[in-house]
Amino acid sequence: MATENNIIIDGKAIAAEVRSALKKHIASACVRPVLAVILVGENEASRIYVRNKEKAAAEVGIECRVLQFGENVSEKELFEVVQALNEDPAVNGIIIQQPLPEQLDTRCLVEAICPEKDVDGFGPMNLGRLQGGSPDAVVAATPKGVLRLIDSTGVELSGKHAVIIGRSNIVGKPLSSLLLNRDCTVTVTHSKTVGLKEIVCQADIVVAACGCPRLVKDDWVKDGAVVIDVGINRTENGKLCGDVDFDALCRKNVRITPVPGGVGPMTVAMLLENTWQAFQKQKKNI
Ligand code: NAD
Repeated sequence: MATENNIIIDGKAIAAEVRSALKKHIASACVRPVLAVILVGENEASRIYVRNKEKAAAEVGIECRVLQFGENVSEKELFEVVQALNEDPAVNGIIIQQPLPEQLDTRCLVEAICPEKDVDGFGPMNLGRLQGGSPDAVVAATPKGVLRLIDSTGVELSGKHAVIIGRSNIVGKPLSSLLLNRDCTVTVTHSKTVGLKEIVCQADIVVAACGCPRLVKDDWVKDGAVVIDVGINRTENGKLCGDVDFDALCRKNVRITPVPGGVGPMTVAMLLENTWQAFQKQKKNI
């Protein structure tokens, strides 16, 4: 239960605000932005994620074209599809739903998406731009959403110690650049980190993105910290939980995101925002 000092950061509500603003902007454009989603195989979780993206896109007025391929599609065929989408002026954003089947080289396929349409921000050009602090970087949706949630608390980031748990290419690493660019002192920890608890104890901002159910306990987090839980895990009884022991931390003076209802909805909203921004840039460049 939340105490009076504790603030739940409502990702669902903040994401709804983002979508509502997007809907207004998009309604004023004469054509609809188009997002192409490449979906390969039968992965149930991927299908659910894509369905959620389709639904959210439709709600704000983005046309989502899902291109579906069988498990055994060749890399060559997918390259050709990406190439055709790159060249299609009606398509503004392209994403490849991950994970891909093992025989496909995910990195090479993601690199084939032109940077202007890489609305997942996973390609090397956008990652490099982000690291260099360029305003032209397309920032990956999850870290972008995490930063938006931190900003929603009004906390001043400059000089704060942010500890990120997890160094993945899609969350931990890009988030470390985002926070460094905002003058945080950033520590990125991972599965080989020694003394994780002691490091997390020093943090003003904790971002847990490691996929370990309820790893971060209440005595790991200092008073007044902002805690963002990226993790999505299933417990033995089928319930969703994050990488943070939410029930225990709720009794402390912290600002914290729930799972579900925190980072998840923001990720989808940020993907839509990236698509709208890509659309605007491409129209300007015509
Ligand atoms: P990943 O498996 O690619 O990376 C996990 C990272 O955590 C690695 O760097 C690993 O070294 C680190 N790690 C693992 N165990 C650890 C431990 N005991 N202590 C410290 N570090 C440890 O995962 P990912 O794709 O970055 O996703 C992380 C979690 O976030 C998963 O639960 C995933 O489902 C979730 N996720 C959620 C969203 C969302 O929109 N909410 C988006 C992406 C990922």
